[in-house]
Amino acid sequence: MALLIKAGRDPAENWIKAIAADLPELDMRVWPDAGDRAEVEFIIANQMPPGEFASFPNLKFVASTSAGVDRLLNDPDFPAHVPIIRSINTQRTATMCAWVCYQVIGHHRRFAAYRQNQPNKIWEFMRYAPPDEVAIGVMGLGTLGGTAARTLKGLMYDVAGWSRSPKTMDGIKCFAGADQLAAFLARSDIIVAMLPGTAETTNLLNRETLALLPAGAYIVNCGRGNLIDEDALIEAMDRGHIAGAALDVYKTEPLPEDHPFWSHPLVAMTPHYSSNGGARHGVGVVVENIRRVRAGQPLADVVDKLAGY
Ligand code: NAP
Repeated sequence: MALLIKAGRDPAENWIKAIAADLPELDMRVWPDAGDRAEVEFIIANQMPPGEFASFPNLKFVASTSAGVDRLLNDPDFPAHVPIIRSINTQRTATMCAWVCYQVIGHHRRFAAYRQNQPNKIWEFMRYAPPDEVAIGVMGLGTLGGTAARTLKGLMYDVAGWSRSPKTMDGIKCFAGADQLAAFLARSDIIVAMLPGTAETTNLLNRETLALLPAGAYIVNCGRGNLIDEDALIEAMDRGHIAGAALDVYKTEPLPEDHPFWSHPLVAMTPHYSSNGGARHGVGVVVENIRRVRAGQPLADVVDKLAGY
């Protein structure tokens, strides 16, 4: 019984240290030194070269190192019978939530305008709406979106959320499914998108849906870049319907040098940087599932491959 680690941003030694604290006897190997592939029962990774996963005949699960599992699901050779375990990482949730709040508050309170005023020594109180008059629409009410929605509510914003299945959340207006998307968009001054990259979410924000937002709406996207028809967003900003966008994810990453977002005055960009989750804060779900395999119990926090997240 061995675990193979193909580390992401956090080096493999951090995963080994974090796992050894709970499972000191576990045989841990670091990619690409997999050893005898028949002995590998668990893999930690968010992607591998095409066809690689299929070369481990006794895999019990693959634990994703990233919250998005699109890279794993896009591997046509990923073995159909092998479950994928979701990444659950408290550090990622907290850092993502902080990035979202920074973008929402920065737009609402006009921090960029203050940065412009500063060199001109302008002392000016710019009026801003009370937060409970700013309608925020959170797309995706999962681990990340749910946390951001509750945190923004705690900052007194008027928060609504949209998800695939209906939800009830204290003080948050919950919309669900394609039927309620138009009503949800129509009441959102600021969209905060934390949706997975799936077939259903691709180009969900397009010419037609962007037009449903109130004039002057602002877009924050830190889920996946597939969500936005980027040409439609640029067009909507250029004609003044959308006030701007804070983006962390893009259709093509890294963003090509000739992409118009780089120099667009209404776009604030970070390079897929909004959150980070190290091994120490994400190890729990991996250890728990190894224990479950050993005890012959069903796995926990398994990705729904059909839904794509
Ligand atoms: P999650 O817990 O799986 O939540 C996903 C949410 O999206 C759920 O509320 C789900 O609805 C909703 N959803 C999925 N498909 C939908 C659809 N077609 N229509 C409406 N709602 C839909 O995921 P998470 O951990 O919050 O992460 C969300 C995504 O953020 C990840 O998949 C990843 O792509 C992205 N992400 C990006 C970064 C970054 O660095 N930029 C970091 C981490 C994650 P239900 O609740 O009804 O299932």
